[in-house]
Amino acid sequence: MSIELVPGRCEGHAVCEAIAPEVFQVDDDGMVQLILGADHDGELALAAVRSCPVAALRATS
Ligand code: SF4
Repeated sequence: MSIELVPGRCEGHAVCEAIAPEVFQVDDDGMVQLILGADHDGELALAAVRSCPVAALRATS
């Protein structure tokens, strides 16, 4: 699975970071950063993608 950030949509709610902090980290500017290549739980990462309140994340298989 690959995860993409939809440009310009993230509002820094940090829901994704709360669910899967090893993959998503909100920086000091309130923008999420994807930790690519991280060893992570795919189901948690997918749950985080689906939980974004502004649909800023997209998962592709
Ligand atoms: S990607 Fe969505 S849930 Fe994650 S910080 Fe941005 S707005 Fe919040």
